[in-house]
Amino acid sequence: MKHEQTTLASCDGFGSISSCSCGLYHIRLPGISVHLREKGFDRLVQMIFQAKENQDSYRINDAKLKKSHLKIVTN
Ligand SMILES: [Zn+2]
Repeated sequence: MKHEQTTLASCDGFGSISSCSCGLYHIRLPGISVHLREKGFDRLVQMIFQAKENQDSYRINDAKLKKSHLKIVTN
């Protein structure tokens, strides 16, 4: 089977994501390389977006908590 890869994204010194003619997505990160089918790749992307979204909302809640704590202290 041929493995012709098309680079979809790359980040200097960090990694890259490419799609391969064999149907797999190749994700290269420092120390690891992951090969996923399209469905797995889509799930990973969704999972990362969800994680990022949750992380952002935790940060917002954290900031709110700190704010309210500050209010209590200053009152
Ligand atoms: Zn391949």
